[in-house]
Amino acid sequence: MKLLICLCLLINMAIFAEDEHHDHDHHHHKEEAKKNKQSLSAHEHGVSVLNIVQDKNRLSFEFEMPGFDVVGFEYKAKKKDDIKKVRNALNVLSNYKNMLIIATEANCEEEKKSATVINEGSHSEFLSEYVLNCENISLIKSITVMYFDSFRFSKKLDVNIVANKKKFSQIIDRGNNIISVEGYFD
Ligand SMILES: [Zn+2]
Repeated sequence: MKLLICLCLLINMAIFAEDEHHDHDHHHHKEEAKKNKQSLSAHEHGVSVLNIVQDKNRLSFEFEMPGFDVVGFEYKAKKKDDIKKVRNALNVLSNYKNMLIIATEANCEEEKKSATVINEGSHSEFLSEYVLNCENISLIKSITVMYFDSFRFSKKLDVNIVANKKKFSQIIDRGNNIISVEGYFD
């Protein structure tokens, strides 16, 4: 019985601590977070985004692509032909090698991947993410972007890199699809 009382007290304290931490109405927060997750970020047709973030030996690659850049339309696919295009695109996106080439000597292994499409009003966006664990991350001197070859409607890619040694942003296109990252990762 004594133990039970102690446990209850602990739980109460934990709840109290959490309430204090948030300072706002809990439910409201949760709802807002959910809404944000399903909402499209403001995008510009023809300009996709690639965020690259280093965490020790891990590299995460996050692509945000207007539907226009991937399949050439942004309405919700209803016709057989359009559904097929979306399905094919997701298939291509599910393999990071269709999007990027990284030096084999870096010895990277895929840890996580995802590919999805979000429709909202008259816009849509494809999102894909790849997390690679690289044994020799410092040997990555350049990243070749295959995105332009895989998706003929793609035009530009706004690349943002947060590496141990440097933060960097660059816009690339199909004529200039190699990102130089020498000395970025260690
Ligand atoms: Zn759009």
